[in-house]
Amino acid sequence: MTAVAGSADLADIARLLRQRHDDTAERLRSLREQTVTVLAGETGSGDAADAGTLVVESAEQAMLTAALSEQLEKLQTALSRLEAGTFGVCARCGQQVPVIRLEVMPWATHCVPCQSALEKRR
Ligand SMILES: [Zn+2]
Repeated sequence: MTAVAGSADLADIARLLRQRHDDTAERLRSLREQTVTVLAGETGSGDAADAGTLVVESAEQAMLTAALSEQLEKLQTALSRLEAGTFGVCARCGQQVPVIRLEVMPWATHCVPCQSALEKRR
């Protein structure tokens, strides 16, 4: 247990970020495969009850796909910030975003005070 806690923590976050990115991409890929299967099954099924269930599933999947795509986009942005060396630096005030915040939200581009200031302005 030697020093350099700060940089080691950020390296952990970077690893976590890549892992999450890969996981999300994988989930999105399998979800899209499932959606294709459901849509293919829909045309072949003449059962009304089944068709109704399939529609609900499709809507849920569409929502999940949208949420995952959004998350993947955020993670990709974070990864490119990581490569550019600006990861973990607040885009508004230039301060280091607390690692504890990055652990929860690796795609965070602003520190807490700036984020809440931006959200209030919306
Ligand atoms: Zn800030």
